[in-house]
Amino acid sequence: MATPASREVVIIGSGPAGLTAAIYTARANLEPLVFEGEPSSTSDQPGGQLMLTTEVENFPGFPEGVMGPQLMGDMRSQAARFGAELRVERVARVDLSARPFRIWVGDPDAAEPTLTANAVIIATGAQSLMLGLPDEKRLLGYGVSTCATCDGFFFRDRDIAVVGGGDSALEEAMFLTKFARSVTLVHRRDTLRASRIMQDRALQNEKIRFAWNTVVERIVGEQSVEKLVVRDTVTDEVRDLEVTGLFVAIGHQPNTGLFAGQLDMDDVGYLRTEAGSSRTNIPGVFACGDVQDSTYRQAITAAGSGCMAAIDTERYLEALHHGA
Ligand code: NAP
Repeated sequence: MATPASREVVIIGSGPAGLTAAIYTARANLEPLVFEGEPSSTSDQPGGQLMLTTEVENFPGFPEGVMGPQLMGDMRSQAARFGAELRVERVARVDLSARPFRIWVGDPDAAEPTLTANAVIIATGAQSLMLGLPDEKRLLGYGVSTCATCDGFFFRDRDIAVVGGGDSALEEAMFLTKFARSVTLVHRRDTLRASRIMQDRALQNEKIRFAWNTVVERIVGEQSVEKLVVRDTVTDEVRDLEVTGLFVAIGHQPNTGLFAGQLDMDDVGYLRTEAGSSRTNIPGVFACGDVQDSTYRQAITAAGSGCMAAIDTERYLEALHHGA
């Protein structure tokens, strides 16, 4: 049986974290192989969440803003220019129990892995949980958003809605009151899940209205959000909610299924890294971007942590080969 190909470093994921790690490791002559992922039931295309956004105005270096897919395309070209190999393939299985680490693409049950690697950088990201409404994905970036920090600015003097009842929803709602004329918090129950202090702040905020026991049934609009159709879960009454923005803040799910039982994770499934580094509990396995960050979740923080993972990897491989 043929010996699987071996690489110095494999990067799993192609958002800003993975591609920044690719640029840095490529420039360090480590010839990284990046598994970009491929379309699936949970992600439409490789490139991470920025592929689902429109204009990005807060990524430094773009005074006029940049479209999310353009930014990712440019990062990709930059990585390729320095020799990173990018494959539109999904990793099906990893075995991190011994080095070299073993990686399967395609059939996860194949006896032999597709390749092995001395170091692995995990940048598989996280996904915003969505409501599952028919037009939600189509209007993402056109009135529907999952990130107030990213998109709040576009909603100046508008009436908008935030769905959710946890800390994220209240944090987003309060942030959005800086721009919006009004923010209606749409929550499916009549009590909030958020911490007391966040609840108190939100309840005192004059710009925030509450639609209790309410769920969104439909998003109306062709080119952008024109209004929502909502239903009262107690009375079943259906009504229009006149808003032109919908922020979905019902939680996030990190993409860590591949690593279950192998890497340390928190209760939600975010990978744990050593403070101030990208090191996981397995030497030689590094994590960067949203897969290990439930706090900041920004393209720039993901890119910054991708740089950290690349430098950690470089040092790890240097020590490995030179016995330091
Ligand atoms: P979360 O606490 O899980 O809350 C999710 C909210 O969305 C819940 O209110 C839930 O309703 C609602 N929801 C879930 N699925 C829904 C659906 N399909 N339709 C309508 N509503 C739905 O998530 P999170 O707010 O993102 O917070 C995650 C963690 O991060 C929490 O531990 C939170 O404390 C922490 N966090 C902290 C801060 C802070 O301290 N500043 C900020 C953000 C997040 P139910 O209540 O009915 O289940």
